[in-house]
Amino acid sequence: MIADWEVAKTQGVCGGCGRSFEPGQEYYAALVEESEEAEEGEKEKSQASGGFERQDYCEECWERESPEAFCFWKTRVPEPAQKKKLLVDDEVLLEFFERLAEASERVKINFRFVLALILMRKRILKYQQTQLRDGQEIWIMGQVREQTKHEVVNPRLDDAGIEEVSEQLSAILRSEL
Ligand SMILES: [Zn+2]
Repeated sequence: MIADWEVAKTQGVCGGCGRSFEPGQEYYAALVEESEEAEEGEKEKSQASGGFERQDYCEECWERESPEAFCFWKTRVPEPAQKKKLLVDDEVLLEFFERLAEASERVKINFRFVLALILMRKRILKYQQTQLRDGQEIWIMGQVREQTKHEVVNPRLDDAGIEEVSEQLSAILRSEL
């Protein structure tokens, strides 16, 4: 898994102008869906990150190019002395979770399920009940604050599978450099 982390983590440079980010600089981090016609090398990368590629942009390039993103957030390069932040804000996690609702690909279903586990641990989502539908186990979950309902397919991952998906997720979401 270490290799996957290396591939998917942020490079600390702008995807537009190629300039390196400075400590304290604000930038946009985006999750971009891998395109079908990605080259072979790119494909391997997509498997490592579950169909998403992490792209970072400086504010200038973000505004000028407004790249298409599945999900994005604004973040800041930590000062060297600052404690490193492993994951993004809860709102970003929630937004990513919600946007994956329509996904039918296995990797995205896995992502959504593991995001649900994380959000449950953070007490943002609450498990309500399980329904069986077309041989699939569906978890009905409620968002604690907004009182909205969400359906999550249980991909029946074992512990090792959950661990692997969590690592892929942190690899594309982490904001440290
Ligand atoms: Zn730039």
